[in-house]
Amino acid sequence: MKEFCKRLPKIELHAHLSGSIRRDTLHHIWQQKKSESPELTLEDPLLVIPEEGVKDINAFFPLFSKYIYALINTVSTVEFSTRAVLNDFCADGVVYLELRTTPRDFPETGLTKQKYVETVLNTISEFNASNGEMKARLILSIDRRDDVEKAWETVELAKRYKKEGVSGVDLCGDPLKGDPSIFAPHFDAAKSAGLGLTIHFAELPQSSSDSELFTLLSYNPDRLGHVIHCSEEVKKKLVEKKVALELCISCNVQIKMNPAVTTHKEHHFGEWWREGNCTVALSTDDVGVFYSELSNEYWIVHEHFGLGKRQLWELAKGVVDATFAEKEEKERLKGVMDKFGAAEGLWQIDM
Ligand SMILES: [Zn+2]
Repeated sequence: MKEFCKRLPKIELHAHLSGSIRRDTLHHIWQQKKSESPELTLEDPLLVIPEEGVKDINAFFPLFSKYIYALINTVSTVEFSTRAVLNDFCADGVVYLELRTTPRDFPETGLTKQKYVETVLNTISEFNASNGEMKARLILSIDRRDDVEKAWETVELAKRYKKEGVSGVDLCGDPLKGDPSIFAPHFDAAKSAGLGLTIHFAELPQSSSDSELFTLLSYNPDRLGHVIHCSEEVKKKLVEKKVALELCISCNVQIKMNPAVTTHKEHHFGEWWREGNCTVALSTDDVGVFYSELSNEYWIVHEHFGLGKRQLWELAKGVVDATFAEKEEKERLKGVMDKFGAAEGLWQIDM
Protein backbone atom coordinates (compact mmCIF):
# COMPACT_ATOMS: atom_id res chain seq x y z
CA MET A 1 0.00 0.00 0.00
CA LYS A 2 2.93 2.32 0.62
CA GLU A 3 3.94 1.86 -2.98
CA PHE A 4 0.37 2.66 -4.13
CA CYS A 5 0.37 5.85 -2.04
CA LYS A 6 3.61 6.91 -3.69
CA ARG A 7 2.29 6.25 -7.20
CA LEU A 8 -1.07 7.91 -6.51
CA PRO A 9 -1.03 11.38 -8.14
CA LYS A 10 -1.24 13.79 -5.23
CA ILE A 11 -1.80 17.49 -4.72
CA GLU A 12 0.03 19.31 -1.93
CA LEU A 13 -1.54 22.59 -0.85
CA HIS A 14 0.04 23.30 2.53
CA ALA A 15 3.83 23.16 2.42
CA HIS A 16 6.13 25.87 3.74
CA LEU A 17 9.17 26.30 1.56
CA SER A 18 11.67 26.72 4.42
CA GLY A 19 10.14 23.88 6.42
CA SER A 20 10.17 21.54 3.44
CA ILE A 21 13.94 21.62 2.98
CA ARG A 22 15.38 18.24 3.91
CA ARG A 23 18.00 17.99 6.61
CA ASP A 24 20.61 16.70 4.18
CA THR A 25 19.91 19.58 1.76
CA LEU A 26 20.49 22.01 4.65
CA HIS A 27 23.66 20.12 5.51
CA HIS A 28 24.88 20.46 1.93
CA ILE A 29 24.25 24.23 2.00
CA TRP A 30 25.95 24.50 5.39
CA GLN A 31 29.04 22.66 4.12
CA GLN A 32 29.23 24.97 1.14
CA LYS A 33 28.92 28.06 3.36
CA LYS A 34 31.43 26.75 5.84
CA SER A 35 34.01 26.14 3.12
CA GLU A 36 33.50 29.68 1.76
CA SER A 37 33.56 31.34 5.20
CA PRO A 38 35.25 29.18 7.85
CA GLU A 39 34.32 31.76 10.53
CA LEU A 40 30.62 30.78 10.16
CA THR A 41 29.29 30.13 13.65
CA LEU A 42 26.11 28.26 12.66
CA GLU A 43 26.18 24.63 13.69
CA ASP A 44 25.81 21.71 11.29
CA PRO A 45 22.08 21.09 10.57
CA LEU A 46 22.69 17.40 11.22
CA LEU A 47 23.38 18.38 14.83
CA VAL A 48 20.66 21.04 15.15
CA ILE A 49 17.73 19.12 13.67
CA PRO A 50 17.10 15.82 15.45
CA GLU A 51 17.42 12.69 13.34
CA GLU A 52 13.95 11.53 14.34
CA GLY A 53 12.31 14.87 13.38
CA VAL A 54 11.14 17.76 15.54
CA LYS A 55 8.80 16.59 18.31
CA ASP A 56 8.75 19.63 20.60
CA ILE A 57 6.50 22.53 19.67
CA ASN A 58 8.74 24.94 21.65
CA ALA A 59 11.67 24.03 19.43
CA PHE A 60 9.69 24.50 16.22
CA PHE A 61 9.45 28.26 15.58
CA PRO A 62 12.96 29.13 16.89
CA LEU A 63 14.39 26.55 14.48
CA PHE A 64 13.30 28.84 11.65
CA SER A 65 13.85 32.27 13.15
CA LYS A 66 17.25 31.46 14.62
CA TYR A 67 18.60 28.88 12.24
CA ILE A 68 17.09 28.10 8.83
CA TYR A 69 16.67 31.77 7.84
CA ALA A 70 20.30 32.38 8.75
CA LEU A 71 21.41 29.58 6.46
CA ILE A 72 19.18 30.27 3.44
CA ASN A 73 19.86 33.97 2.92
CA THR A 74 21.40 34.41 -0.54
CA VAL A 75 20.15 34.04 -4.11
CA SER A 76 22.15 30.85 -4.64
CA THR A 77 21.01 29.16 -1.39
CA VAL A 78 17.36 30.11 -2.07
CA GLU A 79 17.66 28.70 -5.61
CA PHE A 80 19.38 25.52 -4.47
CA SER A 81 16.95 24.80 -1.64
CA THR A 82 13.83 25.62 -3.69
CA ARG A 83 14.99 23.32 -6.50
CA ALA A 84 15.65 20.52 -4.01
CA VAL A 85 12.19 20.93 -2.46
CA LEU A 86 10.47 20.83 -5.87
CA ASN A 87 12.39 17.68 -6.84
CA ASP A 88 11.54 16.01 -3.52
CA PHE A 89 7.80 16.60 -3.90
CA CYS A 90 7.90 15.43 -7.52
CA ALA A 91 9.76 12.25 -6.55
CA ASP A 92 6.99 11.52 -4.04
CA GLY A 93 4.35 11.49 -6.78
CA VAL A 94 3.04 15.02 -6.27
CA VAL A 95 1.54 16.38 -9.50
CA TYR A 96 0.67 19.87 -8.30
CA LEU A 97 2.24 21.82 -5.48
CA GLU A 98 1.44 25.14 -3.86
CA LEU A 99 4.50 26.12 -1.88
CA ARG A 100 4.21 28.99 0.56
CA THR A 101 6.77 31.39 1.91
CA THR A 102 6.96 34.63 3.87
CA PRO A 103 8.82 37.29 1.86
CA ARG A 104 11.66 38.57 4.01
CA ASP A 105 14.64 40.90 3.80
CA PHE A 106 18.08 39.58 4.60
CA PRO A 107 20.04 42.74 5.50
CA GLU A 108 23.20 40.71 6.21
CA THR A 109 23.44 39.68 2.54
CA GLY A 110 21.47 42.46 0.88
CA LEU A 111 18.79 40.05 -0.37
CA THR A 112 15.55 42.04 -0.47
CA LYS A 113 11.98 40.76 -0.21
CA GLN A 114 11.41 41.45 -3.86
CA LYS A 115 14.57 39.68 -4.98
CA TYR A 116 13.77 36.77 -2.66
CA VAL A 117 10.31 36.32 -4.20
CA GLU A 118 11.70 36.71 -7.73
CA THR A 119 14.35 34.08 -7.03
CA VAL A 120 11.81 31.55 -5.76
CA LEU A 121 9.49 32.27 -8.69
CA ASN A 122 12.26 31.96 -11.27
CA THR A 123 13.28 28.61 -9.81
CA ILE A 124 9.66 27.43 -9.91
CA SER A 125 9.24 28.64 -13.52
CA GLU A 126 12.35 26.81 -14.64
CA PHE A 127 11.13 23.69 -12.90
CA ASN A 128 7.64 23.95 -14.44
CA ALA A 129 9.11 24.43 -17.90
CA SER A 130 11.34 21.38 -17.65
CA ASN A 131 9.00 19.03 -15.83
CA GLY A 132 5.93 17.47 -17.38
CA GLU A 133 4.58 15.73 -14.31
CA MET A 134 4.44 18.30 -11.53
CA LYS A 135 3.54 21.96 -11.71
CA ALA A 136 4.11 24.35 -8.83
CA ARG A 137 2.71 27.71 -7.75
CA LEU A 138 3.64 30.06 -4.92
CA ILE A 139 1.61 31.44 -2.02
CA LEU A 140 2.96 34.46 -0.14
CA SER A 141 2.41 34.44 3.61
CA ILE A 142 1.68 37.31 5.93
CA ASP A 143 3.18 36.56 9.34
CA ARG A 144 0.92 37.12 12.36
CA ARG A 145 3.66 39.30 13.85
CA ASP A 146 3.72 41.60 10.81
CA ASP A 147 2.52 45.16 11.22
CA VAL A 148 0.08 46.69 8.77
CA GLU A 149 2.89 48.08 6.63
CA LYS A 150 4.77 44.78 6.26
CA ALA A 151 1.56 42.96 5.44
CA TRP A 152 0.87 45.46 2.63
CA GLU A 153 4.31 44.77 1.16
CA THR A 154 3.42 41.06 0.96
CA VAL A 155 0.04 41.72 -0.66
CA GLU A 156 1.64 44.10 -3.16
CA LEU A 157 4.27 41.49 -4.08
CA ALA A 158 1.56 38.84 -4.47
CA LYS A 159 -0.42 41.09 -6.79
CA ARG A 160 2.63 42.16 -8.80
CA TYR A 161 3.84 38.60 -9.38
CA LYS A 162 0.46 36.93 -9.93
CA LYS A 163 1.20 36.34 -13.61
CA GLU A 164 4.60 34.86 -12.70
CA GLY A 165 3.02 32.17 -10.52
CA VAL A 166 1.80 33.63 -7.20
CA SER A 167 -1.60 32.05 -6.72
CA GLY A 168 -2.61 33.14 -3.24
CA VAL A 169 -1.97 34.72 0.14
CA ASP A 170 -1.69 33.00 3.52
CA LEU A 171 -1.71 33.98 7.17
CA CYS A 172 0.88 32.03 9.16
CA GLY A 173 3.37 32.30 12.01
CA ASP A 174 3.47 31.65 15.73
CA PRO A 175 -0.19 31.34 16.81
CA LEU A 176 0.67 32.84 20.20
CA LYS A 177 1.76 36.12 18.62
CA GLY A 178 0.09 39.00 16.80
CA ASP A 179 -3.43 40.24 16.23
CA PRO A 180 -4.92 38.92 12.97
CA SER A 181 -7.81 41.39 13.12
CA ILE A 182 -5.56 44.11 11.65
CA PHE A 183 -5.29 42.32 8.31
CA ALA A 184 -8.89 42.71 7.09
CA PRO A 185 -8.05 45.25 4.34
CA HIS A 186 -5.05 43.18 3.21
CA PHE A 187 -7.04 40.02 2.63
CA ASP A 188 -9.79 41.99 1.02
CA ALA A 189 -7.32 43.53 -1.45
CA ALA A 190 -5.76 40.12 -2.18
CA LYS A 191 -9.12 38.53 -2.90
CA SER A 192 -10.20 41.46 -5.07
CA ALA A 193 -7.04 40.95 -7.12
CA GLY A 194 -8.12 37.37 -7.84
CA LEU A 195 -5.68 35.72 -5.43
CA GLY A 196 -6.72 32.73 -3.33
CA LEU A 197 -6.80 33.08 0.46
CA THR A 198 -5.75 30.44 2.96
CA ILE A 199 -5.34 30.94 6.70
CA HIS A 200 -3.65 28.99 9.50
CA PHE A 201 -6.67 28.37 11.69
CA ALA A 202 -7.29 27.14 15.25
CA GLU A 203 -3.80 25.72 15.63
CA LEU A 204 -3.52 26.06 19.41
CA PRO A 205 -6.20 26.58 22.09
CA GLN A 206 -4.81 30.09 22.74
CA SER A 207 -5.49 31.16 19.14
CA SER A 208 -8.89 29.52 18.87
CA SER A 209 -11.42 31.70 20.65
CA ASP A 210 -14.72 31.93 18.77
CA SER A 211 -14.13 35.64 18.39
CA GLU A 212 -10.74 35.16 16.69
CA LEU A 213 -12.01 32.34 14.49
CA PHE A 214 -15.14 34.21 13.40
CA THR A 215 -12.96 37.23 12.60
CA LEU A 216 -10.74 35.04 10.38
CA LEU A 217 -13.81 33.54 8.71
CA SER A 218 -15.14 37.02 7.97
CA TYR A 219 -12.21 37.37 5.51
CA ASN A 220 -13.86 34.62 3.42
CA PRO A 221 -10.86 32.30 3.14
CA ASP A 222 -11.03 29.65 0.44
CA ARG A 223 -9.02 27.24 2.56
CA LEU A 224 -7.96 26.81 6.16
CA GLY A 225 -4.89 25.07 7.55
CA HIS A 226 -4.92 22.70 10.55
CA VAL A 227 -8.44 23.52 11.94
CA ILE A 228 -7.79 21.79 15.25
CA HIS A 229 -9.55 23.58 18.11
CA CYS A 230 -12.99 24.48 16.74
CA SER A 231 -16.26 24.84 18.62
CA GLU A 232 -19.41 23.30 17.13
CA GLU A 233 -20.53 26.80 16.00
CA VAL A 234 -17.29 27.32 14.12
CA LYS A 235 -17.50 23.86 12.50
CA LYS A 236 -21.03 24.63 11.34
CA LYS A 237 -19.79 27.84 9.77
CA LEU A 238 -16.99 26.00 7.92
CA VAL A 239 -19.53 23.65 6.38
CA GLU A 240 -21.83 26.53 5.49
CA LYS A 241 -18.98 28.40 3.81
CA LYS A 242 -17.72 25.22 2.10
CA VAL A 243 -14.13 25.97 3.10
CA ALA A 244 -11.52 23.39 2.08
CA LEU A 245 -9.42 22.03 4.93
CA GLU A 246 -5.67 21.49 4.74
CA LEU A 247 -5.13 18.82 7.38
CA CYS A 248 -1.61 18.00 8.51
CA ILE A 249 -1.88 14.78 10.52
CA SER A 250 1.78 13.94 11.23
CA CYS A 251 2.67 17.52 12.11
CA ASN A 252 -0.27 17.89 14.51
CA VAL A 253 0.27 14.57 16.25
CA GLN A 254 4.07 14.82 16.38
CA ILE A 255 4.24 18.18 18.15
CA LYS A 256 0.96 17.56 20.02
CA MET A 257 -0.92 20.60 18.79
CA ASN A 258 -3.94 19.06 20.46
CA PRO A 259 -2.66 17.66 23.78
CA ALA A 260 -5.67 15.31 23.92
CA VAL A 261 -4.64 13.65 20.66
CA THR A 262 -1.63 11.39 20.91
CA THR A 263 -2.26 8.90 18.11
CA HIS A 264 -2.98 9.27 14.39
CA LYS A 265 -6.29 7.46 14.89
CA GLU A 266 -7.62 10.25 17.10
CA HIS A 267 -6.83 13.04 14.62
CA HIS A 268 -9.79 15.17 13.51
CA PHE A 269 -9.25 14.00 9.93
CA GLY A 270 -11.53 11.07 10.82
CA GLU A 271 -14.42 13.30 11.80
CA TRP A 272 -14.24 15.53 8.70
CA TRP A 273 -13.74 12.62 6.35
CA ARG A 274 -16.65 10.60 7.72
CA GLU A 275 -18.99 13.58 7.57
CA GLY A 276 -17.81 14.49 4.09
CA ASN A 277 -19.04 18.09 4.34
CA CYS A 278 -15.80 19.86 3.46
CA THR A 279 -13.02 19.02 1.01
CA VAL A 280 -10.03 17.64 2.87
CA ALA A 281 -6.55 18.17 1.45
CA LEU A 282 -4.00 16.02 3.25
CA SER A 283 -0.86 18.13 3.66
CA THR A 284 2.66 17.87 5.04
CA ASP A 285 3.18 21.41 6.44
CA ASP A 286 6.94 20.98 7.00
CA VAL A 287 8.23 17.70 5.63
CA GLY A 288 11.80 18.83 6.35
CA VAL A 289 11.21 18.80 10.10
CA PHE A 290 8.49 16.16 10.49
CA TYR A 291 9.85 13.66 7.92
CA SER A 292 6.46 12.55 6.69
CA GLU A 293 6.08 12.89 2.93
CA LEU A 294 2.66 13.39 1.38
CA SER A 295 2.55 9.74 0.28
CA ASN A 296 3.01 8.82 3.94
CA GLU A 297 0.06 11.03 4.95
CA TYR A 298 -2.10 9.05 2.49
CA TRP A 299 -0.71 5.82 3.88
CA ILE A 300 -1.57 7.02 7.42
CA VAL A 301 -5.24 7.48 6.52
CA HIS A 302 -5.23 4.01 4.97
CA GLU A 303 -3.58 2.48 8.02
CA HIS A 304 -5.46 4.35 10.76
CA PHE A 305 -8.80 5.22 9.16
CA GLY A 306 -9.18 2.25 6.83
CA LEU A 307 -9.35 4.05 3.48
CA GLY A 308 -8.92 1.64 0.58
CA LYS A 309 -7.31 2.38 -2.79
CA ARG A 310 -10.43 3.84 -4.36
CA GLN A 311 -11.12 6.05 -1.36
CA LEU A 312 -7.53 7.31 -1.33
CA TRP A 313 -7.81 8.13 -5.01
CA GLU A 314 -11.12 9.94 -4.49
CA LEU A 315 -9.60 11.87 -1.61
CA ALA A 316 -6.66 12.92 -3.82
CA LYS A 317 -8.91 13.81 -6.75
CA GLY A 318 -11.22 15.84 -4.52
CA VAL A 319 -8.39 18.29 -3.88
CA VAL A 320 -8.27 19.51 -7.50
CA ASP A 321 -11.07 22.04 -7.02
CA ALA A 322 -9.51 23.39 -3.83
CA THR A 323 -6.33 24.45 -5.64
CA PHE A 324 -5.70 28.08 -6.58
CA ALA A 325 -4.77 26.90 -10.06
CA GLU A 326 -6.20 28.37 -13.24
CA LYS A 327 -8.87 26.48 -15.18
CA GLU A 328 -6.48 24.78 -17.63
CA GLU A 329 -4.30 23.42 -14.84
CA LYS A 330 -7.37 22.06 -13.01
CA GLU A 331 -8.38 20.30 -16.23
CA ARG A 332 -4.89 18.83 -16.56
CA LEU A 333 -5.06 17.57 -12.97
CA LYS A 334 -8.48 15.99 -13.44
CA GLY A 335 -7.09 14.25 -16.53
CA VAL A 336 -4.09 12.94 -14.57
CA MET A 337 -6.36 11.64 -11.79
CA ASP A 338 -8.81 9.98 -14.18
CA LYS A 339 -6.03 8.36 -16.16
CA PHE A 340 -4.59 6.88 -12.98
CA GLY A 341 -8.01 5.69 -11.79
CA ALA A 342 -8.66 3.99 -15.13
CA ALA A 343 -5.21 2.39 -15.33
CA GLU A 344 -5.61 0.99 -11.81
CA GLY A 345 -9.19 -0.13 -12.41
CA LEU A 346 -10.29 1.88 -9.39
CA TRP A 347 -13.74 2.60 -10.81
CA GLN A 348 -14.59 -1.06 -10.55
CA ILE A 349 -13.63 -1.40 -6.89
CA ASP A 350 -16.61 -1.49 -4.53
CA MET A 351 -16.49 0.98 -1.70
ZN1 LIG B 1 1.60 25.63 8.10
